[in-house]
Amino acid sequence: MTETAEQDLRIQVRGLAKSFGDAHVLRGIDFDSPRGSSTVLLGPSGSGKTTLLRSLNALETPERGVVRIDEVEVDFAALPTGKAGRRESGRLRAQSGMVFQTHNLFPHRTVLENIIEGPVIAQQRPKEEAVAEAKVLLDQVGLGDRADAYPYQLSGGQQQRVGIARALALKPRVVLFDEPTSALDPELVGEVLAVIKDLAADGWTMVIVTHEIRFAGQVADQVLFLDGGVIVEQGPPSQVIEHPQEERTQRFLKRIL
Ligand code: ADP
Repeated sequence: MTETAEQDLRIQVRGLAKSFGDAHVLRGIDFDSPRGSSTVLLGPSGSGKTTLLRSLNALETPERGVVRIDEVEVDFAALPTGKAGRRESGRLRAQSGMVFQTHNLFPHRTVLENIIEGPVIAQQRPKEEAVAEAKVLLDQVGLGDRADAYPYQLSGGQQQRVGIARALALKPRVVLFDEPTSALDPELVGEVLAVIKDLAADGWTMVIVTHEIRFAGQVADQVLFLDGGVIVEQGPPSQVIEHPQEERTQRFLKRIL
């Protein structure tokens, strides 16, 4: 690979393998995500999507494989034990922001306080700066007027949008979404997907686990179809979603469309 091509890559994954007991959940995953691209992980339940996503920021520790996000690379087979290993994992984790199925907001803190917590406490950035940036982010997710609200005063969709703003506040290199709309009432799904589409248009690099196929087709630059812990098929949505070549992909899409 040339140096320029290497610099255009934000995420590089090689040979990722992870077991839980006897279950080989990831069995050698390789992919690249160019800077500013959206990668959607599709596949049946249990195929390893969430485990792969969580491995990208070392929330899971694979037995083998390499994850690189920009200049931070972790070779899991060579990860030291104890404090040194935790430090390496922590450096990789700091490269990404994660948006979970449910928002995990602090219930006794306002929307604004929830968003500035990470920048001020974990990153020790000046509070005024964090507040100013949080307000910009809240505008971006369409909640500029809800800074002083408490989570219980918001709808599920609004809470999830606060969760997105909170992930972005840490200025991550990539944003990882783990089924961000699967816990929402159907009428609230659209507003969250719209925010994610805006982020894609703004040039964020994202990896998204979702079952929303239409959305996947609109947002993804590349789709990875997983089954049984391997990538069965990958390519742009026009290929993987519209014209799947593999029988397992065809069967999956037929079931959910
Ligand atoms: P998906 O996101 O595609 O539904 P997951 O990555 O969540 O798949 O899970 C893949 C497999 O790994 C499943 O069989 C699941 O039961 C198993 N698994 C996931 N996490 C754990 C864990 N912490 N301990 C044991 N098994 C797990």
